[in-house]
Amino acid sequence: MTDILQATILRCTCIHLFQDKQYGKGMRLHNPCLKPQPGYRCTVCGAHQSHGQSVAPLTPKETKKG
Ligand SMILES: [Zn+2]
Repeated sequence: MTDILQATILRCTCIHLFQDKQYGKGMRLHNPCLKPQPGYRCTVCGAHQSHGQSVAPLTPKETKKG
């Protein structure tokens, strides 16, 4: 059991005046999701964020070089 299943505030590019006032300009409430990869999904536009601060590194592949 991990506690990553918790809504969090992340930056997003979508427009939402209420959340601008509520969480800060450009900051949006995100719900956790596991697909297409572990991360968070914006509650406003549905954009997937895989770089949430609270996300545990389940599959570390940061060393990939192009
Ligand atoms: Zn968004």
